[in-house]
Amino acid sequence: MKKILLVWVLVPQLLLAQKKTKPEFTRVEPAFWWVGMKNTELQVLFYHREANLSGYEASINYAGVSIKEKINVENPHYLFLKLEVSSAAQAGMLPIQFKAGKKSFTYLYELKNKSTTPNRIQGFNSSDVLYLIMPDRFANGDTKNDSLPGFYQGVHRHEPFGRHGGDLKGISDHLDFISDLGVTTLWLNPILENNQKRESYHGYAITDFYKVDARFGSNEEYVALIEKCHARGMKMVQDMVINHMGNYNWLMLDLPEKSWVHQFPEFTRSNYRSEVISDPYQSNYDLNKMSNGWFDYTMPDINQNNPLFATYLIQNTLWWIEYAGIDGIRMDTYPYPDRDFMARWAKEVLAEYPKFGIVGEVLVNSKPMVGYWQNGAINRDGYQSHLPSVIDFPLTNAINTGLNENGSWEGGLARLYTTLSQDFIYPDANRNVTFLDNHDMSRYYFNMGRDMNKFKMGLIFLLTTRGIPQLYYGTELLMDGNYSIHPTVRMDVPGGWPGDPINQFTRTGRTKEQNEAYDFMSRLLQWRKTKPVISQGKLTHFIPEDNVYVYFRTLGEETVMVVMNGNDKPMTLKTDRYAECLKEKSTARNVLTKESVQNLKEITVPAMTAIILELN
Ligand code: CA
Repeated sequence: MKKILLVWVLVPQLLLAQKKTKPEFTRVEPAFWWVGMKNTELQVLFYHREANLSGYEASINYAGVSIKEKINVENPHYLFLKLEVSSAAQAGMLPIQFKAGKKSFTYLYELKNKSTTPNRIQGFNSSDVLYLIMPDRFANGDTKNDSLPGFYQGVHRHEPFGRHGGDLKGISDHLDFISDLGVTTLWLNPILENNQKRESYHGYAITDFYKVDARFGSNEEYVALIEKCHARGMKMVQDMVINHMGNYNWLMLDLPEKSWVHQFPEFTRSNYRSEVISDPYQSNYDLNKMSNGWFDYTMPDINQNNPLFATYLIQNTLWWIEYAGIDGIRMDTYPYPDRDFMARWAKEVLAEYPKFGIVGEVLVNSKPMVGYWQNGAINRDGYQSHLPSVIDFPLTNAINTGLNENGSWEGGLARLYTTLSQDFIYPDANRNVTFLDNHDMSRYYFNMGRDMNKFKMGLIFLLTTRGIPQLYYGTELLMDGNYSIHPTVRMDVPGGWPGDPINQFTRTGRTKEQNEAYDFMSRLLQWRKTKPVISQGKLTHFIPEDNVYVYFRTLGEETVMVVMNGNDKPMTLKTDRYAECLKEKSTARNVLTKESVQNLKEITVPAMTAIILELN
């Protein structure tokens, strides 16, 4: 009885005493860090919603850690510390002493050990196939997180631009469906918090750079999903956005400095003209609008030339890599942020994690403009991006156009040939991420006029030519949305929601055609996984004749021959032209039909069909 009383008396007094002197920070970012990082400088943001932090001095007495600089900014709610975390520092709780006049308190900052799991962060390459999922639209594994207090938007599944309730649990629950298909790597549209009032489902208006949107799940659930993927030999690519943020980002609501975002006397939109960046005749007017204009009213443009925000963003990337063990990043709107900052960002990320994969979205149908952004490009202005991979929009365009045209000098399958013939523009075209469609365009099946033969032919091309293929969820289910009715390209997977009348994650829930598509893709993808000749082999192709396009992949003793017939009739071709690739090989195995081909002198290919031959 006595003890209880004592505690009852003492505890409130202690709390009271603490409250007087210690401002409980609203935010500390990054919330923790690691010892043993190659870059030993650490910038920590301290924020208090109400308190004035400008008068505080900070000191540290911890072996291997020192304060290099304390930085006050316009907004007194913020204080920044630049720390040196040397290689001698040990993991532990680092006491940071804050003092202002008679007020003083200690903040314990956690330094963790870097992960020692070997090959935890693998990057991605042409042996992988990426599978893009819009998390809000794939599967709702947890209805309890659909509508949460503190979030502007809850679930309204009937609204095309509303949130539908899909989440990380939904993805985790369907990993069998995904891995049976044969893809190796997940790319999720951004999963960080988007507590926006409108259209928050797509994820590109981040309101908290350090937190998974609670309506998708928690940071811990995200890590668990990645570990589950890794355990299956699959990888995770995180979609990131550092060109802009949501206007309800907590930073935006109480900016540390006005200069953290680009300010204009009146709303100024980006001109979205990526060509300005590499244009030798660019005007400052256009450049300013392109780089500094806002992406939308709800997406303020981040100023990467603010040194504190620049470091904040780079550290945020490193934090997600080390914290979650992601294998790569797909960076949104790559040409939009400050160009030199992007080079610094990529360079510093790869300096810390050399095997890490990064692909930049350069959404233009122009090979030189896409090539400009790949590391190693010989650019007239000397720009070096340090970016390993670019998204290959020109090849997508060639596929979607060429498969719908009759053959001609430049039309039909010649578009594939011509586009690849200009690969000299890319320092490493085999690192380009290639694709048929994504969340920002009409579904591939729609583009193919819902023609199953064309559908298969484009897939065969994508999965046997050079590059790192990416598929968009729902392709295997023959989703056929038209981008002019925008939300139809971001449909829910039937069966992903409790109570759905059909379940297309299962064979019995799919139509005959859907099973045909799924099985076809699965056969092709599972085969590709085991074929370094496809991911690394030399590509040799021949000028299309009569809209028949032939190419070979060769690696060591292995040769794969692909013949694409873009005609509405069967075509028979004599193979003398291909002697340099056929060499002494005289028989083959048709990969998809498993038939053996005894005579390679003359090959017949059915109408609008591609065949893959493994030569013996
Ligand atoms: Ca949910």
